Amino acid sequence: MGILDVLHFPDPRLRRPSEPIEKITDELHQLAADMLETMYDEPGIGLAAPQIGASIRLIVLDTQWTEDDADRKPCVFVNPEIVERSGSVVWNEGCLSVPDFSADVKRAEHVVLRALDLEGREVVETASGLRAVCFQHEIDHLDGVLFIDRISRLKRNLYVGKRKKLLEEEGERWTSSGERPPAPLRTPGTKL
Ligand code: ZN
Repeated sequence: MGILDVLHFPDPRLRRPSEPIEKITDELHQLAADMLETMYDEPGIGLAAPQIGASIRLIVLDTQWTEDDADRKPCVFVNPEIVERSGSVVWNEGCLSVPDFSADVKRAEHVVLRALDLEGREVVETASGLRAVCFQHEIDHLDGVLFIDRISRLKRNLYVGKRKKLLEEEGERWTSSGERPPAPLRTPGTKL
């Protein structure tokens, strides 16, 4: 395996709620490794399994590696959930599955995440700021929610209209059948 294809809006697979992971297998370890490789390659700071077409509750992230001289700190969370949230913060978010767009999104500023690691041990992590935003953004993916669902209808409609036009110009069918995902588009910047 290695680098995986990231699905792009409006691929309907991004809208499917994901299933909890019952058993941690060698295949899951491989998938997590491939998702991390894909995330670093894009580049992004987070990736959720539905973004590569797997409807399971698995996320990977590394919220610091894009900063100058920062080491990579890959994190993998199985069945993650937010168990506490407080405060609020507005962050300009982008997404590897939502090409050519970013927008301010209001989220909890501080969260406590509970998950399993790849050895099946429980992990509890308290996070603030970007890392807290990333946790919330990636867990949204597991529920079929995209950050564009959390902005005003006006801004969302503007983006959807632009994206539809672009795909039509490229000869892609604007479809929700999922037979043919839209052509990959790469944009600079940090994506979640
Ligand atoms: Zn995303």
